[in-house]
Amino acid sequence: MGEKIEIFKDLIKRSENIVFFGGAGVSTESGIPDFRSKDGLYNQQYKYPPEEILSHTFFMKHTEEFYAFYKNKMNSLKYKPNITHIKLAEMEKEGKLKAVVTQNIDGLHQKAGSKTVYELHGSVLRNYCMNCGKFYGGDTVFESNGIPKCDCGGVIKPDVVLYEEGLDDETVEKAISAISRADMLIVGGTSLTVHPASGLINFYRGDRLVLINKDATMYDSKADLVINDSLGKVFEKIL
Ligand SMILES: [Zn+2]
Repeated sequence: MGEKIEIFKDLIKRSENIVFFGGAGVSTESGIPDFRSKDGLYNQQYKYPPEEILSHTFFMKHTEEFYAFYKNKMNSLKYKPNITHIKLAEMEKEGKLKAVVTQNIDGLHQKAGSKTVYELHGSVLRNYCMNCGKFYGGDTVFESNGIPKCDCGGVIKPDVVLYEEGLDDETVEKAISAISRADMLIVGGTSLTVHPASGLINFYRGDRLVLINKDATMYDSKADLVINDSLGKVFEKIL
């Protein structure tokens, strides 16, 4: 891997408009179970399949059961950023990295200090009253008993993209804009099989596409550099 790390470092050195696109692998290295993978939540046994619980219909119809699951399984408040989050935040501070595009909903990039983060699937740290729109942080929801309610009596809903719900157009547009302008795109911790990841990286026009993933992906042949290892092992060796 040593030679590849040197190439990776050299590419970073020569780039000044880097975008990082991250999947679940970024968060799992902080100990957070994978939200949408067969190895993560889906393996476990519940009364309903997790993808049904985490759907819009289920939220509306069985709000209390949704929250019982959600508060138990989706609470990322206690987790800490790992070396990848920290290095990416440093790269942004140095002016090299312009944006993080993430499929994760845990807010760990911001916790590490990243400012420009496009969260395709939303964030558990943002929640809104469905009645009056008032904002609530993650602790309000995770520390609530039963269904979290607003001062006005309305039900609070996480700003997380549930199954059956579409992505936020503005977030997607900003992510596409950042990716299409990037001189280097680092894609990490994703197998690139989950929509819209595969579609988004097609907007990259440069010649410094780096894929870092434990397993091979269908994009490996398109990449300028492929490192099949954990993100943490790669990022601890750079800068
Ligand atoms: Zn309200």
